[in-house]
Amino acid sequence: MRTINHWINNAEVSSTSGNFGPVYNPATGEQQAQVGLASVSEVDAAVAAAKEAFATWRSASLSKRAEVMFRFHELVVQNRDKIAELVSIEHGKVPSDAAGELARGIENIEFACGIPQLMKGSFSEQASTGVDVYSIRQPLGVVAGITPFNFPAMVPMWMFANAIATGNTFILKPSEKDPSVALFVADLLKQAGLPDGVFNIVQGDKVAVDRILEHPDIAAVSFVGSTPIAKYIYSTGTANGKRVQALGGAKNHMIVLPDADIDMAADAAVSAGYGSAGERCMAISVVVAVGDAGDKLVDAISARLPKLKVGPGTDPDAEMGPLITREHRDKVASYIAGAPGEGATVVVDGRENDLPEGGFFLAPSLIDNVKPGMKAYDDEIFGPVLSITRVDTYEEAVKLINDHQYGNGTAIFTRDGGAARQFQFDIQVGMVGINVPIPVPVAYYSFGGWKASLFGDANMYGPAGIDFYTRTKTVTSRWPDPATSSVDLGFPQTR
Ligand code: NAD
Repeated sequence: MRTINHWINNAEVSSTSGNFGPVYNPATGEQQAQVGLASVSEVDAAVAAAKEAFATWRSASLSKRAEVMFRFHELVVQNRDKIAELVSIEHGKVPSDAAGELARGIENIEFACGIPQLMKGSFSEQASTGVDVYSIRQPLGVVAGITPFNFPAMVPMWMFANAIATGNTFILKPSEKDPSVALFVADLLKQAGLPDGVFNIVQGDKVAVDRILEHPDIAAVSFVGSTPIAKYIYSTGTANGKRVQALGGAKNHMIVLPDADIDMAADAAVSAGYGSAGERCMAISVVVAVGDAGDKLVDAISARLPKLKVGPGTDPDAEMGPLITREHRDKVASYIAGAPGEGATVVVDGRENDLPEGGFFLAPSLIDNVKPGMKAYDDEIFGPVLSITRVDTYEEAVKLINDHQYGNGTAIFTRDGGAARQFQFDIQVGMVGINVPIPVPVAYYSFGGWKASLFGDANMYGPAGIDFYTRTKTVTSRWPDPATSSVDLGFPQTR
């Protein structure tokens, strides 16, 4: 059985804990590798390497750091097919989807290539007579990232590109379900000239995460994953004095107003609801049909579902792959099973399809008449199950979204610019799409939900990422003419 290792000081390091986790091929259901699960001492070894590397790396010039990022960008672009293939084999997403994930990850490396510009501080000449005041940005030290299974390439890139470019050293704890991509990328960073110890990987589970949260030499933690764990990471990390950003789960609603182009809205709902088998934190999971849009949407969406090709990533025609594990597939299916008992209508049942044997597949499902209080509405399902909720008015649609515990993404489909503008004003959600179903911000903005979708004040990547991975030092400076020197015990004033 192939074993997936840690990466410390620019080299693979075998796990010594004796604990391993299975890594499946979700398209066949077979275990294809095992991943070493780090013990406390293995995490400590990675942190020690990162701590030692920090002093040198933070002193590297901005042009040197930019140069490494440019070379890394080149290597990732050259290897994009290989990386997409690795994503597909362990995660299950089809290659076109894996390529899309990587493209959005690459954007973050491009952003980090501009680090000399991003690290600029500010300068005020003559704040007082002969006195200048300026601020500089400095890295935090050793920082860590803990990532989910659903974007094994992109989400780590959201974190480490800016963290490293700003002069920090980094410990990545990837999802134990698809840990290989991170190792491949680590080798590209090494080839790009990143010094030993600047980027490290500890593979692992709760043991590794808990050690990261309490390790005194780790200054900050970035987390992306489910809401209960995000909450835990935030409370434990901050209690231990760390800067923490913890992004959680989602339940993204897409409002369709009666004036919308129904075919365009249905195409968007199907793409955003079933892409990556619904395993995206920005997936649309509820379509809120306003007024008479409901029947038309149900017809248009259900007409599209039989045409979607579900299959393994090795099938060039497949548009949607399997779910990540058997347990997760069965949990998602349980929402379809439970829906009629709660008063909803299963219009298309993905459990009934002929699907490839062995893998963790579930075909797209559509549930109508879903309402608050039903499990299919309240929970994040994280699978290929789209719900339709019917309301009479725009105001009811907005209230539904604002009352939901999550506030990650949302979208409105309409031809009415005034309604769309009102929506962006009214809605209590961090990322909003206007006729755009998956409004993941580009890398030079920042990503973050509201409410139970994000714990902490800091959004991820973009300008917020630079802020998160740096702290400001403000210097007040005077180079006086010794002839003007005198003793003055009064409080310094800006004169
Ligand atoms: P998860 O919360 O189960 O795992 C995320 C990370 O936390 C993994 O590295 C895992 O090893 C670790 N972890 C799991 N249980 C832990 C525990 N008890 N203690 C300490 N660490 C633990 O999430 P997942 O299933 O890998 O990913 C799917 C979830 O991530 C969904 O809820 C999805 O919405 C969310 N997500 C959110 C965003 C966002 O940007 N808001 C992006 C992607 C995914």
